[in-house]
Amino acid sequence: AKDKEKSNIQVFHVAMETYSIQRLKLENELRHAISNQEFILHYQPQVDIHTGQIIGMEALVRWMHPTKGMIPPKEFIPLAEETGFIVQLGDWVLYEACRQNKAWQDQGLLHVPVSVNLSMRQFSEHGIKNKISEVLVDTGLPPKYLEIEITESMTMDVKHASDWLNKLKKLGVQVAIDDFGTGYSSLSYIKQFPIDKLKIDRSFVNDMLLDPNNATIVSTIIAMTRQLNLKVIAEGVETKEQLQFLQEKQCDEVQGFLFSPPVPSDTMGSLLEQAVQ
Ligand code: C2E
Ligand code: CA
Ligand code: CA
Ligand code: CA
Repeated sequence: AKDKEKSNIQVFHVAMETYSIQRLKLENELRHAISNQEFILHYQPQVDIHTGQIIGMEALVRWMHPTKGMIPPKEFIPLAEETGFIVQLGDWVLYEACRQNKAWQDQGLLHVPVSVNLSMRQFSEHGIKNKISEVLVDTGLPPKYLEIEITESMTMDVKHASDWLNKLKKLGVQVAIDDFGTGYSSLSYIKQFPIDKLKIDRSFVNDMLLDPNNATIVSTIIAMTRQLNLKVIAEGVETKEQLQFLQEKQCDEVQGFLFSPPVPSDTMGSLLEQAVQ
């Protein structure tokens, strides 16, 4: 038994070592990925629930790793958050999304806002307002064509969050609360913030036709946004049945695989081109 214990410990050490070496390696690769131009943005259309018209798009980052291929954000965003690298990466995403949207507009394609995910680190960073306004000036994108997505947890510090959000609103950019329903915000809480839109988290949409509790949550969020004069979008819509339920509940907008997965920029460009024809 003693021997077995000992060898287990050794296995554990080896596993730990491999894990931290891999992590260090990834961390190091991550740092160079921007200058190596290994990040790209995919875009997922957001559509009007009644007409099916594209009314926006979300920018979602992808890492094209030279040997591992495409790495999804869930495998590097957490590490980027921990190490603080997310600030640099987030700056790149913000710039690239605005630059690309302006380029599409200059080509005469459909003019719709692009949504960019902001991490807590960027949000609380001193000077985020100046950074955003600089990006808008540099790219020439009119502010109303940029939407910032923040998560509910980022509004926990009510005083600071209101300050930041007020500044962003003054710039003329739109603000959406992402993954809504997964945090702690209540109706009265959300009312204090100058926001434009709530995004109902995918997990509720996913189960709403199977689980009556989720159906109630979804219809309550929709009803609540109407009361507050906010727009509401459901994410993760995969089936016609889900779409129909959301239409009945009078949700405004939808995003999900039923319409389109996130696509590379040239595909998104074609979608925007078709939309104006
Ligand atoms: P999110 O902001 O909630 O983004 C939506 C995610 O849902 C995307 O995953 C998208 O591909 C996925 N999705 C969309 N429609 C459907 C559907 O119908 N069914 C299912 N099952 N999934 C759907 P993705 O691209 O893997 O991104 C995951 C998360 O990574 C994002 O979740 C966001 O939190 C984070 N992320 C992505 N890009 C960025 C970024 O540029 N900055 C920051 N800070 N976070 C990012
Ligand atoms: Ca998002
Ligand atoms: Ca989301
Ligand atoms: Ca999410």
